[in-house]
Order: sequence, then C-alpha cells, then structure tokens
Amino acid sequence: MEKVLEVNDLHVSFKTYGGEVKAVRGVTFDLHKGETLAIVGESGCGKSVTSQSIMRLIPEPPGKFDGGSILYKGKDLTKLKDQEMRKIRGSDISMIFQDPMTALNPTLTIGDQLTEGILEHMKLTREQAKKVSVDMLSLVGIPSPEVRLKQYPHQFSGGMRQRIVIAMALVCQPEVLIADEPTTALDVTIQAQILELFRDIQKKTGVSIILITHDLGVVAQVADRIAVMYAGKIVETGTRREIFYNPQHPYTKGLLNSVPRLDADGGELIPIGGTPPDLFSPPVGCPFTARCPYAMAVCDRVYPEQTSLTDTHGVDCWLQDERAKKLLANK
Ligand code: SF4
Ligand code: MG
Repeated sequence: MEKVLEVNDLHVSFKTYGGEVKAVRGVTFDLHKGETLAIVGESGCGKSVTSQSIMRLIPEPPGKFDGGSILYKGKDLTKLKDQEMRKIRGSDISMIFQDPMTALNPTLTIGDQLTEGILEHMKLTREQAKKVSVDMLSLVGIPSPEVRLKQYPHQFSGGMRQRIVIAMALVCQPEVLIADEPTTALDVTIQAQILELFRDIQKKTGVSIILITHDLGVVAQVADRIAVMYAGKIVETGTRREIFYNPQHPYTKGLLNSVPRLDADGGELIPIGGTPPDLFSPPVGCPFTARCPYAMAVCDRVYPEQTSLTDTHGVDCWLQDERAKKLLANK
C-alpha cells in the first residue's frame, strides 16, 4: 500500500496557567492512498491536536512542537517554512471542521468563495475557475449548481452548507482530506448522507481521508482502518473489522460497550468508569491503569510498547505482551 502520510513519534504540548499539558505523546501512524483512517477517542485525547499539527495549525505559543516528524511525499512538514506550508495547505492537504458556518464567509456568494480558493492555488482563468466550481458543487450533490453559485451561505440548510464546505476542501484536488468531527453538528439523517458523500467522493477522486471523531457509529460507516487514542497516545490500531470484532485494548472494549449497537438489541450500555489522567504530569506507565479492570502491578510502572497481533493490528497493553504473560503464568 502506497503511503501518502507518515506521522512518526509526534509530541505536542501546550503552555497553560496551570502548567504544561502534554497533549500528544508519541503518536505514530501511516495514511495509505485512497483509504479512510479514523482517529477515535474521547474529547481531550489529542486527536484534534494531532490533525491540526499535520496542517501546522497549532498556534505557537501556547502550543509547542516537541518532536517527531510528519512526512508527506518525502517532505517533513514540521521542517517547512510557513510559506511552503501555506502552499501545501488547501492544495495538497485540506481540512474541514465541525461547524460549516465558521468555514464560510456569510458576506460572499458560494461562487465567489469557491473560485477564490481555486484561483489562489491553480493557474486558471476566472471563467475556468467558475466551471470547476460548478463541477465541484455537482460532485457534492448540490442541485442546479449554476443558480446556487450566486447564493449566500444563509440560503442553504446545514447539511447543504457542509456539502459546500466539502466542495471547498476538494476544489484543488488534495491528496489528503482531514475531517474533524464533520457530522457532529448535523442531525442523524443528514449525517448519514454526508458520510455517504465521503465514500462516494473517495471512490471518484481517490483522496485519502483522516476522519477525527468521538462517534463509533460514524467510524463503523466509513473507516477502513481505526486508530484509538487515549491520553495523547494511540493505544490500539487495526482494520475496522479487527477493532469492532476483535478489540484487544481494555479501553477500546470499553468504548465499544458504551455505544448502542444496531445488531444487539436490548444490550446494556456500560459507560467507562473514572476519568482520563491529567496530562500536566502524564503517568509513566499505561494511562488507562486507574480505569482498567485488568490492571496489573507492571501497568502503572512501565508503559506497554506496541505488540503486533497481525500486520494491521497493534495494541499497547501488557495483557498482550509475551513478557507479561510469562510473568503471570509463573505466579
Ligand atoms: Fe489495563 Fe494494564 Fe493493559 Fe493498561 S496495560 S490497559 S492497565 S491491562
Ligand atoms: Mg476535537
């Protein structure tokens, strides 16, 4: 599988009045061409910070890049000058956010906003840019695009606005699309339509997608692979099948038990007890120790490095580590 993006041992922190928060603590993952990778976790786990770091949108200060690399087509994005990064943002890697309203300018027509983005990154005439805008709007399923181009954001419904935002993100044919909670602000029916749109666009354009979400329902619908984040680390990663049918990290299991499932009616939902550790002074060992029903003596003393279960499935948990299994067997 061709890799379009390789994130290696990324560390990001934030200075606050209370001290330094270690928000991302050694995150490593690859994104393959044409796939959707979902990064899942509770709020504050570091998933949004990870995606904003890829776009170099972390304000410094209070944010601070503490190490690691982000390779895109062989270039380390962490080392690029601001000007070089500006070229990549939008044209190679683009991002869409939760609230479509904040991404659109209420005082400009949809057409002006789309063509502006096109003219900024591509060498086209205004006429050609308008043609591309029309094509983009039909790609994202907006009827009568020629008419709609002349309208303003408030003349569209929430779902339609999110389609326009997606069109704007795709207009320069990026290789990578990062979507941070793209459907959270929408109702369930519209949400399903937007997810369907992502799949459709991916089929047509081959774009690779990083989907950031706390919603496992969303993940189940669109992800090829899943990375589960907890307390600034990826604690389990695998294909959708591996994560949904054979989860190994107790936190992943907890997440799955805490959401309603369509195939198991009447099943009881069990929320995960406790709260994540504070990241001012993150634990040296497994950050899930205080909430984990299987915690052993080693857990809070030493961090469990990743154990590979298959080529695609990896987990950071002592339960899967051969050395801990031996220790337990000898007890
Ligand atoms: Fe639980 Fe220990 Fe595994 Fe952490 S390493 S998830 S505390 S068993
Ligand atoms: Mg977030």
